[in-house]
Amino acid sequence: MIVKATAIPLACYPYSSTSRIVHWLTRHHGKVSTLLKGALRPKSPFLGEYELFGTSELLYFSKRTGSLHTGKECALLHPRTTFRTDWRAMQTASYITALFNKTTPDESPQPGLFEFFEALLDFTEEFGGASPFLIWAELQFCHQHGHAPNLENCTLCNAEENLSFSAASGGVVCTPCAQEKKIPTLECPPDILAMLRSWQADEHPRKAAHTLLSGKQKTALHALMGAFMRYQFNLPQELRNAAIG
Ligand SMILES: [Zn+2]
Repeated sequence: MIVKATAIPLACYPYSSTSRIVHWLTRHHGKVSTLLKGALRPKSPFLGEYELFGTSELLYFSKRTGSLHTGKECALLHPRTTFRTDWRAMQTASYITALFNKTTPDESPQPGLFEFFEALLDFTEEFGGASPFLIWAELQFCHQHGHAPNLENCTLCNAEENLSFSAASGGVVCTPCAQEKKIPTLECPPDILAMLRSWQADEHPRKAAHTLLSGKQKTALHALMGAFMRYQFNLPQELRNAAIG
């Protein structure tokens, strides 16, 4: 059966000297993997028609679910050219793409996930060079996956004061609870907590991206979100470090 899909590559691998395997996130079929035979040959119909971060229309011969499908042709609809020249934004887009690749199961369509991925890439083109954007994007990603950190009251007793952060507890905990249960925590001063709460609630990254952070605030924010993302999604830390720059 031939399937037509709007798709963005999540990862590309060499298969032979001329062929490639591409994992895609598609609008209606979830994550699919295709073999693009002869993709690197000079006259290949795939040449220049797909690239990381770009939206393509893909035609493929669908085999049994979960197997490697055979790509027939594709056409690049929206290349997102910013990432060819803006290195910082490209690093952020790479990290976001790796998050989707790691967390999306094969061939399990999830309504809204493709639109969310496209929207995040579009925002990354505009704001991806700004350090706080990454934190905003991670908060939105966690929310989309039902793992939003609890930033309101102590996760254990609902206390509103003396809060610090525990990735393993899923958000903030108060000092008495942390001491009683011997929970390791990271400092979460009021200014940091206020930023995280405001960015979590904001569906647009403009405000977050334009926030001027002191070196200390930047370090604290990345320590908290880095720990949380590692705990929730178990992604290699190097990818995130590259995106922080
Ligand atoms: Zn508590």
